[in-house]
Amino acid sequence: MESYLAELNDAQRAPVLQKDGAMIVIAGAGSGKTRVLTYRIAYLMSKGVDPFNILSLTFTNKAAKEMKKRISQIVGSSEAKNLWMGTFHSIFAKMLRFEADKLGYPSNFTIYDTQDSQRLISAIIKEMGLDKDIYKYKQVYSRISSYKNSLITVKAYFQNPELKEADAMSKKPRLGDIYKNYVDRCFKAGAMDFDDLLLKTNELLNRFPEVLQKYQNRFRYILVDEYQDTNHSQYLIVKALSDKFQNICVVGDDAQSIYAFRGANINNILNFQKDYDNVQLYRLEQNYRSTKNIVNAANSIIEKNKTKLEKVVWTANEDGPKIIVNRLLTDGEEGRFVASSIFENKMQNQLDNGSFAILYRTNAQSRAMEDALRKREIPYRIYGGLSFYQRKEIKDVLSYLRLLINPNDEAALKRVINYPARGIGQTTIDKLTIAANTYGKSIFEVIENLDHIDLKVNSGTRNKLTNFVNMIKSFSILNENADAFTVADTVAKKTGLVQDLKKDGTPEGVAKIENIEELLNGIRDFVEGQKELADATGSLAEFLEDVALATDMDKETGDDHVALMTIHLAKGLEFPYVYIVGMEEDLFPSGMSMNTRSELEEERRLFYVALTRAEKQAYLTYTQSRYRWGKLVDAEPSRFIDEIEGKFLDYMIPQDDYKYKPLIDTDIFGDVDKSKLRQTKPTAGSPPPAHKPSEEQLRKLRKLRPALDHTGQASIKDVVKLEEGNEVEHIRFGKGKVLKIDGIGQDKKAEINFENGGIKKLLLRFAKLKLL
Ligand code: ATP
Ligand code: MG
Repeated sequence: MESYLAELNDAQRAPVLQKDGAMIVIAGAGSGKTRVLTYRIAYLMSKGVDPFNILSLTFTNKAAKEMKKRISQIVGSSEAKNLWMGTFHSIFAKMLRFEADKLGYPSNFTIYDTQDSQRLISAIIKEMGLDKDIYKYKQVYSRISSYKNSLITVKAYFQNPELKEADAMSKKPRLGDIYKNYVDRCFKAGAMDFDDLLLKTNELLNRFPEVLQKYQNRFRYILVDEYQDTNHSQYLIVKALSDKFQNICVVGDDAQSIYAFRGANINNILNFQKDYDNVQLYRLEQNYRSTKNIVNAANSIIEKNKTKLEKVVWTANEDGPKIIVNRLLTDGEEGRFVASSIFENKMQNQLDNGSFAILYRTNAQSRAMEDALRKREIPYRIYGGLSFYQRKEIKDVLSYLRLLINPNDEAALKRVINYPARGIGQTTIDKLTIAANTYGKSIFEVIENLDHIDLKVNSGTRNKLTNFVNMIKSFSILNENADAFTVADTVAKKTGLVQDLKKDGTPEGVAKIENIEELLNGIRDFVEGQKELADATGSLAEFLEDVALATDMDKETGDDHVALMTIHLAKGLEFPYVYIVGMEEDLFPSGMSMNTRSELEEERRLFYVALTRAEKQAYLTYTQSRYRWGKLVDAEPSRFIDEIEGKFLDYMIPQDDYKYKPLIDTDIFGDVDKSKLRQTKPTAGSPPPAHKPSEEQLRKLRKLRPALDHTGQASIKDVVKLEEGNEVEHIRFGKGKVLKIDGIGQDKKAEINFENGGIKKLLLRFAKLKLL
C-alpha cells in the first residue's frame, strides 16, 4: 500500500480507492471529507490519470492552493499544478475565455464585480426615470442574480407571466425591463458579472454539443467539495460535464448547508443518488478536528433540526475543556473580554495569533472586536471586508488596466474618464451614454467616432475626449509587447493618478500611494509566478481575471494574526480556539430568519458550522444590551445556548479587572457582589473600559437579573450541607436531584439534574437553591 494511504482510516480509504464511478461522501464536520478529496486526487494521479483530466471544485481558491500543495507532497512532483482546481467561478471563467466567441463575447471579456454591477443597475434605474426608493439598486441586483442562478434568462422571464406578475405585485413592474437593459449593457461592454460565469457556462454546454463533448472528454474525473451548497446553475454544470463518464465524487454535509439565501439547494445532495447510476454512498463518522466536548455539544444542537440526514459523529480526541459561556454588559465589554481571553490563552499556552478566530453573524460586529484587539496590540485581520482590490485607488488603477484590455468596458470607463480630473463633466458623460444607447455602441466607440456623430459638445471637450481615447490606445499598444508589470507601472504614472495623490499630501494620500505600490509589486510577483505554469503566460488579462475572482479569503498573508470573519466565510476552516460572539436572539438566530422553521433550521446549521470550527476550545459570548439600528436595545441570550446540553457548558461572570473565573452556574448572578459589576475599573495593564454604563443601562441590567431574594431559599449554610441524592429546587430550573458534589469550602460545586434545565453544575456559594 502506498504509504500516504495509511494516513486515512478505513472509512476514508474506501472512497479514495474506488477509482471509477459515481460516489457521494456524506459526513459531519471535521470527519475528513476534504482530506478524502485531496488523497483521492493523489491516488488517481498515482494510477496514471493525467492531472489535465481532473477537475476539482472547491469553496475558495485558497483551499484549492492548499490542496494542490498537499497533493504535490504526496505524489512528489509538481504535476499537481496542472490540475483544474478552484472555485466554480474561477474554473469556468477560464473555460469561457477559450470559448467566448461562440457566445458573441470577446475572449478578453471583463468580469464585473458586485460593485460594478450595482453601479450599472443604479445608472439604468436613473436613466429609465424610475423611483430609486422603490427600485432599490441592491435589491434589484439580487433579484437579477437569483434569476440568473435559476437559469431564468431575459427571454425566459418575459415568457413567464407569473414572474412578471410577482414583480408587479411587489410594486416593481419594470423589473424585467431593467433586467433586459442590464443584460444588453453588459453584453455591449463585453462584460460578464459573477452570475454570468455560471449562466453562460450552462448556455455554452447546452447550445454547443461539440463543446460539451470536448469538456466531458477532458474532465474525466470530477470532484466537488461542499456539495451541499451548490446552487441550481452549478448543479447543472456538474451534471452536464460528468454525464458521459460518470466518474464523479462529491462530498458534503447537509448539516452545514448555509447558503440557501443565495440559492444553494440542499436537494442537490439529497437527490444525488437518483442522478447517477450505481452511486456508492460513503459515510465517515470519526471526527479528527475537535475535542469530545465540542463534538458532542455540536451533535446536541443539530439534533434539534427536523430536516436532516441521520449521522453519527464521534471522536477519539480528549474530552477537552467545556465550552465557556460569558455574558457581558455591552459589545465594548464583549470585545475586551475576547481580547483579554486571547491574550491570556496566548501567554499560558505559548500560542501564536493564528490559533484564534473570532466568528460573528454580521460584519458590523467586527468593530468592537477590532477596537479591543488594537488596544491590546494583538494583530488581527478581518476577512470578507472590503477587499484590497476594491479600495478606491486600487480600483482606479485596475479600471485603466481593464479599459486598455477591453475598451468597451463601460463600468471601467465611467470610473476613470474624468479621474484624475481632465475637464470632462457629467453632462458630457450623460450625452455620451445617450449616444451610445442610441447607436448601440460603447462609449469608447462613440468617442472614436465623434466626427460622425452629432454630439453637442464644444471643440475643447472634443479634444479632451480624443486625448483620453488616444492615451488608452497607447497603453493597449504597449501591452502588446511589454509585460504586465511594465504596463501597470506606466499606467500609474502616465495617467497622473500617482501625481494626483502626491499633490494631496495627506497621510491618507500617502497610504494610497503605498497601496498602489503594493498592487504593482503584486503584479510583478504574479508575472514571475505564472511563468512556471504550463498554460499561462503572465499576461495582464490573466492578472485581471485573477483579481476579479479573488475573494478576500484567498489573499496570502505571511503575518501571524487573529482571524475575524463571519461564520459563513469560516466554512471548511479550523482553528484551535474559536470565539463565537453576539450569541443573542435577533442577532443569532438573525431576526430576519425566524419567520419559518426552515429559516430557523438554517440558522441552527450555521451555529453548527461555527462551533465545529473549534479544535480545542470554544467560547460563546452575549451582551445584555447592544446598539441595533442606532438604538440601545435589551438583548436576550440566544436560544442556541440553551439548546446545547448543559453538561458541555461552563458559565462565567465578569470581574472588576476583566479577569474571569468559571462560575458554572448558568446566566444567573446569584449572590455575586453587585457593586463589582459596576466597578469596571481596570487593573494595571488592562485596557480602560470604553465607558461606564449609564444608570439607565444598570437599571436595565438589574431588571434582567432574576430577583435576588428568593423567598424560602435555604441559607448558604444549609445548602453547603447538600449531599448526593438530595432533592432541591432552583429559582429557574425547578426541581432537581443532586448527582455529585465536589470541591470544598468556597469552591464547592454540585452537579444537579433539573427537570427543566437538564444537568447543570452550580457553585453552591451562588446557587439559588432550596433543599426540599
Ligand atoms: P468540514 O465539514 O468542516 O469541511 P471535513 O470533513 O472536510 O470538515 P477535514 O477538514 O478534511 O474535514 O479534516 C478535519 C481535520 O482532521 C483536518 O485537520 C484533517 O487533517 C484531520 N484529519 C482527517 N482525517 C484524518 C486522519 N485519518 N488522521 C489524522 N488526521 C485526520
Ligand atoms: Mg471540508
